[in-house]
Amino acid sequence: MRGESGPEVAFEDRMATTEFRVAPGAHITIDGDTCRGCTTRECITACPANLFAPMADGGVLFSYEQCFECGTCYLVCNEKGAITWNYPVGGAGVAYRRS
Ligand code: SF4
Ligand code: SF4
Repeated sequence: MRGESGPEVAFEDRMATTEFRVAPGAHITIDGDTCRGCTTRECITACPANLFAPMADGGVLFSYEQCFECGTCYLVCNEKGAITWNYPVGGAGVAYRRS
């Protein structure tokens, strides 16, 4: 089946053609205190890589290693300063390969 922007590709198939060169430090950080007070937590549902997870104390756990660098979390977050967003340094980060 074709969508408006091309054929649909399963998440697993897309991930199989994606490579991550993990940097030693996170290129995105979140402010724990701000996130604990966040009522919408849009990042959890918006991140296409599922890198934001809800925690029992109301906070959010974030892991950067398999980030697509799409910027969605930064756009949807409505708490100023909660997310610090940069590209990974020194050639690290995501690489999309043709299958
Ligand atoms: S990153 Fe932004 S949207 Fe996500 S929990 Fe923190 S404040 Fe809320
Ligand atoms: S940049 Fe995209 S993939 Fe990376 S954490 Fe934000 S929403 Fe998720």
